[in-house]
Amino acid sequence: MKSWDHTSTTMSTPYTGRLAPSPTGLLHLGHARTFFIAHQRARDARGTLYLRDEDLDPQRSRPEFSAAMREDLHWLGLTWDAEIRQSDRIPLYRAALDQLLAAGLAYPCACSRRDLAQSTQAPHDDEDDEPLYNNRCRPTDPAADLLDSRHPRRTTNYRFRTPGDLRPILFTDLHSGPQSFTPAVDFGDFLIWRRPLTSNPDDIGLPSYQLACVVDDALTHITEVVRGRDLLKSTARQILLQRALRLPTPAYFHCDLMRDAAGIRLAKRHDALALRTLRAQGLTPADILAMF
Ligand code: GLU
Repeated sequence: MKSWDHTSTTMSTPYTGRLAPSPTGLLHLGHARTFFIAHQRARDARGTLYLRDEDLDPQRSRPEFSAAMREDLHWLGLTWDAEIRQSDRIPLYRAALDQLLAAGLAYPCACSRRDLAQSTQAPHDDEDDEPLYNNRCRPTDPAADLLDSRHPRRTTNYRFRTPGDLRPILFTDLHSGPQSFTPAVDFGDFLIWRRPLTSNPDDIGLPSYQLACVVDDALTHITEVVRGRDLLKSTARQILLQRALRLPTPAYFHCDLMRDAAGIRLAKRHDALALRTLRAQGLTPADILAMF
């Protein structure tokens, strides 16, 4: 049995949730609200909560942001029971890639420098989401994928082969209701692996956000994923990966997003709404929670 295989989630499985911040900037009010809801749901269920440090973006992740996010979350009164850090887990993601290759569900791709740069980050809007792939590198004969899987290359990127049957991925979100996304229409063959950017032989490249998220949710037995509704489309991609890797699908609760006075989604560039800034201005955790 592969290390990420495990028995399927049942009703009696104890609640396990996660807070999954990316240490690429300071946490702002929007993050705080999502993490507060995730924390509340885990505590109400007397469950277990992980802090998952999503530090896979080599250009933008910084240890000082990891430290700051922990401190900010503690200041707000949030606690967690265990921690994992994605940069410690690259071989686990690679094993999942190898499983997809062996199943003929992934293929090497030489295109898309721009997508590659962004693939280790969760896509939060159309701007940072991958464009529909034009299938230039997709072998017309899936047997070719299998052939390649016997000689996996270290220096290439890989994409997931999405089904072309136009059957929608359906799921019911616990907060946002019924959802439907169609592979090849709403998203294309998405990146799952980014080749190494250095010549260091220990550098085996990086999983995309989508692959790392699915592997970690399964390995830590997450029963409910709480995150912003800007990731609804990513959930459809992740459900496809779960099916391909024979992993259970957790429940999903996608929260509403906080917007600023102009209606713009709060993002890390809104430094004025960073928890640190608000704290320096004398706001207390209770003042922050009252804004939710
Ligand atoms: N690290 C991701 C983010 O900051 C979270 C993705 C997730 O919860 O799956 O947006």
